[in-house]
Amino acid sequence: MTAVHEPSTAIRTVTASIDGHEVTVPDGTTIYDAAREVGVDIPVLCHNDRYDPVGVCRMCVVDTGGRVFAAACVRPCEDGMEVKTASAELERNRAVLTELLLTDQPPRAEDPKQTTTADNALLELADRYGVARETTALPCGSGRGRDSSNPVIDVDHDACILCDRCVRACDDIQGNDVIGRSGKGYATRIAFDLNDPMGASSCVTCGECVQACPTGALTNKSINLIPIRPREELDAIDSVCPYCGVGCALTYYVDRERGAISFAEGRPQPGSQSRLCVKGRYGWDYAASPQRLTTPLIRVESSYPKGPLSADVRGDGDGRRNGKNRAEGRKPGGLVDYDEVMPHFREATWEEALDLVARRLREVHAEGGPGAIAGFGSAKCSNEEAYLFQKLIRAGFGTNNVDHCTRLCHASSVAALFEGVGSGAVSTTYGDVVNADVVIITGSNPTANHPVASSFFKQARRKGTKIIYVDPRASTVAEHSDIHVQLKPGTDVAFYNAVMHEIIRLGFIDREFIAARTSNYDELARTVADYPPERAAQITGVDADTIREVARTWGEAGAAVVYWGMGISQHTTGTDNARCLIALCSITGQVGRPGTGLHPLRGQNNVQGASDAGLIPMFYPDYQGVDRDATRQRFERAWGTRLDPKRGLTVTEIVKSVLEPGGVRGMYMLGENPFLSDPNINKVRKALSALDFLVVQDIFLTETAEFADVILPASSYLEKDGTYTNTDRRVQLGRKVLDPPGQARVDWEIVQDIAQRIGLDWNYASASEVFDEMVALMPSYTNLTHANLGLSGKLYPNADPEHSDGTIVMFDERFNTEDGLAHLVPAQWLPPKELPDAEYPLVLNTGRLLEHWHTGSMTRRSFALDTISPIAEVYLHPKDAAERGLAHGQRVRVRSRRGEIELQVRISHREQLGNCFIPFHFREAAANLLTIDEIDPYGKIPEFKFCAVQVEALA
Ligand code: SF4
Ligand code: SF4
Repeated sequence: MTAVHEPSTAIRTVTASIDGHEVTVPDGTTIYDAAREVGVDIPVLCHNDRYDPVGVCRMCVVDTGGRVFAAACVRPCEDGMEVKTASAELERNRAVLTELLLTDQPPRAEDPKQTTTADNALLELADRYGVARETTALPCGSGRGRDSSNPVIDVDHDACILCDRCVRACDDIQGNDVIGRSGKGYATRIAFDLNDPMGASSCVTCGECVQACPTGALTNKSINLIPIRPREELDAIDSVCPYCGVGCALTYYVDRERGAISFAEGRPQPGSQSRLCVKGRYGWDYAASPQRLTTPLIRVESSYPKGPLSADVRGDGDGRRNGKNRAEGRKPGGLVDYDEVMPHFREATWEEALDLVARRLREVHAEGGPGAIAGFGSAKCSNEEAYLFQKLIRAGFGTNNVDHCTRLCHASSVAALFEGVGSGAVSTTYGDVVNADVVIITGSNPTANHPVASSFFKQARRKGTKIIYVDPRASTVAEHSDIHVQLKPGTDVAFYNAVMHEIIRLGFIDREFIAARTSNYDELARTVADYPPERAAQITGVDADTIREVARTWGEAGAAVVYWGMGISQHTTGTDNARCLIALCSITGQVGRPGTGLHPLRGQNNVQGASDAGLIPMFYPDYQGVDRDATRQRFERAWGTRLDPKRGLTVTEIVKSVLEPGGVRGMYMLGENPFLSDPNINKVRKALSALDFLVVQDIFLTETAEFADVILPASSYLEKDGTYTNTDRRVQLGRKVLDPPGQARVDWEIVQDIAQRIGLDWNYASASEVFDEMVALMPSYTNLTHANLGLSGKLYPNADPEHSDGTIVMFDERFNTEDGLAHLVPAQWLPPKELPDAEYPLVLNTGRLLEHWHTGSMTRRSFALDTISPIAEVYLHPKDAAERGLAHGQRVRVRSRRGEIELQVRISHREQLGNCFIPFHFREAAANLLTIDEIDPYGKIPEFKFCAVQVEALA
């Protein structure tokens, strides 16, 4: 085995003179880059460091003594070359070019510089060369027109200078391939797909082209109806995106006078490298929704017994948004009906509400013992909030009944990783894909769920990395893959066992690695011997030759890495699925080097951090087992209290326990909405109704809050400081951008107030102080502080955060298991728990859309996201639709053994025959009314990806 992309040892250099400055640079360095090294700034328009240079605008031409001027952005330096960058002739040349380009520009409104993201480089050049718009002789504008069809991006073709920056941003950076050119000569303009309006094209509104445009041809529209001011008048706050686990770094530009965000843009960070997706760039206005909770609420006496207060999730609206989507003044059809629910609560002071919460939780605890209390935290909260919340439940109530939505996303992956390699975190980063020869992306739809990570996958493929995509759905990434394995859902173990069978048969295993770094290989080999490709073909529906091709492609790779999503983890065999992936990497030695390893793509922005911080029932912070005496005693000393030696209940077990005698009776819910996010929500509804006491701390009135006795108005992500750990193990600072509305308060302070009221002596003064306490108890986070995280955050583990970004590749010498070996755990294929039959003949798969996030409480209150994706749909294969006589857009009923929902049909070639897909964001068509609550025996994760349903026309 050899590592790939080894750096060349002998780098040839050249020495040139630029405006009299001698500079020595590696051979191939452009004049533009070399000039910057000696502090000489050459003006550019079409060039930007993030894109490959094309040299089309000619603004950067320099004099190299040749017959014609050379474009500095593309011309390499040569030994002995003498370059002049600013002679009178060159400057005259640039001035004329600026004047010519300006001729085509449309008239500007009051603020000519404002392009909403990039400064207008063309107008800056006009100022520099003293070219006034009025001095040009030709009529304004090229007459190529405007396009306002995208809800948040405006296209002014007249302002376009055809520099192709947007084309390169869309193709080379984001890999979306939407923008090209159409027309000839003067009529040439940028085109979206086949010259479609932008809003009707395949554009995914990532905004990368807006960030790239140097002239204001592509601009952001205001999404909160507040005019966008010039950048210089706005406050720039560096933070991190609050949506997915990719954790993109961004800057919010804030209009302080109006107390509102104007726009957001990506900023440099080693992971996301200034990229954003539609959610990060345009999905922040939810925080200013008029529906924010602003006052503590207490349920009125007349509203008992508890139950769902607004219309039933099945009957609330038709899923369509009629007319306006702006949050202002609307009553959203798919959200909790405030008018119906609010009369069941009365406003209270913080003192009254907190006193009541503390008293009732203490009473439930006194009556039922520690096991009567449980807490659900949230992977949307910061590390500090997660840490304090689990500490409150453990130290305040003597129970480990504390969990969060990791249970619903990657709990099985974490169980398998712990058992196999001794750590639940990824072994390498998503950006390390660039060093891989081959990548398997499996059980994941990264273009929707991890859009910025997927842009790196697509970019790596352009540079030669082969992508094997293994997924029952043909989502967009299938179009960017070399092999798409469209296996039947729930057959992953059979598929990977067959791949390993072939790898062993063909001798592609790494014997040295197996001998030195793994245990239990013989048993694994015996198990996979029973899975020849022909047998696996019968189970998986994938032909045997494709299985052989995958085995050969993986086996021949010098470096290979697996990225997986919830299509692997959200099964009753989720742990077995992940065990197979660990074994596949381990027997081929594909762990511990650049471009190799294991990466479960984490869902929520802070699911990694919340788990690291101990928001799980079996572990204290940093995965230190609650059932280990020495560990427990250490935490008892640190927290000054006695702790429960038994593991607590998981999310699904807590719901079950509420419905059993002697089970959980009182709950503290911080930012979770299990009424929509948990499987089989009819059961969740019964559990929430049956609780003796429920306090919900959230930013909106969620479906779960309808069952609460007390509702505490919390702060959104944008209203507080704290750290968040992304899927790469990168710990980053989220910074306060806005003040919380009304009386809403910062979450960790609310948790501290409750802790004090139940007798805990907590006096944290800041999130940073909480972080320091956590780190002292978490070996993996050693050395990290708020101060040394800097603007880019740091990967953990990190021996020297002052000077290092942290560890990219883990396990280069040993695994984190006690014996240092990777433990290979063989798995037998088992069918899913509820197979299709005559009455329920289709397999239901649930998941996310690009524009929405989980239960939609944020994204459905975002103008951009809700406008682009406003309705609930069931995605059906054309034949399945035809068999049922269903047309695209028709209203249908989907039913399972647990419930039924009504929504619209989307005919989709991306589905497999016999399968359908429903996103779980939509209250009015809640997919989890249908799902089954069977769980994986190890990770306790529900089988969200497989249950039997029927789809039928509404009578
Ligand atoms: S918004 Fe993104 S996908 Fe759409 S055209 Fe611009 S770069 Fe391409
Ligand atoms: S990829 Fe994820 S973290 Fe990045 S901008 Fe999109 S939602 Fe935010």
